[in-house]
Amino acid sequence: EAKRNGRNRAALFEPRLREAQAARLALQADLRGAMARGELRLNYQPQVDAVRGTLSGVEALLRWDRGGIDPVSPAVFIPIAEESGLIVEIGRWVIREACRQAQAWREQGFGQLRMAVNLSVRQTRDEQLLAFIDDVLEETGVAPGCLELEITENLLMEETELAIALLARLRARGLHLAIDDFGTGYSSMAYLKRLPIDTLKIDMTFVRAIPGDGEAITTAILAMARQLGLAVVAEGVETGQQHAFLAREGCGTLQGYRFDPPLDPETFAARWLQPRTSRAS
Ligand code: C2E
Ligand code: MG
Ligand code: MG
Ligand code: MG
Repeated sequence: EAKRNGRNRAALFEPRLREAQAARLALQADLRGAMARGELRLNYQPQVDAVRGTLSGVEALLRWDRGGIDPVSPAVFIPIAEESGLIVEIGRWVIREACRQAQAWREQGFGQLRMAVNLSVRQTRDEQLLAFIDDVLEETGVAPGCLELEITENLLMEETELAIALLARLRARGLHLAIDDFGTGYSSMAYLKRLPIDTLKIDMTFVRAIPGDGEAITTAILAMARQLGLAVVAEGVETGQQHAFLAREGCGTLQGYRFDPPLDPETFAARWLQPRTSRAS
């Protein structure tokens, strides 16, 4: 009886599942061509000093511009790229392009920026990642300390000792590592202490709940970060009230629509970059 029910249910859902699967496969095939067609671009969102309001860094965020067709959100196409393994190639393009842009801005006299790039956990299984990053840094002249890799908390929890060893080697090179979407996973303070990281990025679900339920957890994360000697970036800061609360609680860096959404490179430069008087660095 149970078996028959199961089969009926499967029959009911199968067409829909098959349709969804077909749509994913189509998107996957499209994405494969997107790189070759030059449809991938990076946008840049400022990370702002909570007290001074000055630029402390920038996060590169991937965009897929399908020329006329509605853009697909990275929240949709990144998981598809991860599933197919295509993320390794796309992720490399992102690292190289972000470093190339940082170098271009430096050559234009804007000084050396701290550039954050999202790293998929799949990329930490790429044995060539370290060598690839070394090459890109050398090629672009970006200082290792100016490149920050963001890895989400949940993905990190699933990872093996091997991946963590790779992160440690990256950090030994001088790169900075940040935990993205922090607070949504289950990492303990003891676990965090073992990780080779520099920065926690408070997930925007908590920031969105300021004023309110988000305040206590934000304060707790800041206290923990202070104990562990980690920098903190709050994500998704949209209001003056959130800004004021976070600055008062000692959160060093803020990111969100309060300052700017992710911008194309020209707009970002016009709004956030100023020529340095001396071209040192
Ligand atoms: P994330 O790394 O946590 O990036 C923050 C996301 O929040 C971005 O969405 C950004 O546009 C959005 N955001 C920033 N400020 C605000 C705000 O004030 N309010 C609201 N509502 N949203 C804000 P986006 O660009 O759609 O990216 C979504 C996610 O896709 C990223 O989350 C990241 O996990 C992933 N992603 C994006 N680019 C890449 C990439 O190059 N590689 C990898 N592996 N993942 C990427
Ligand atoms: Mg991120
Ligand atoms: Mg995030
Ligand atoms: Mg996210």
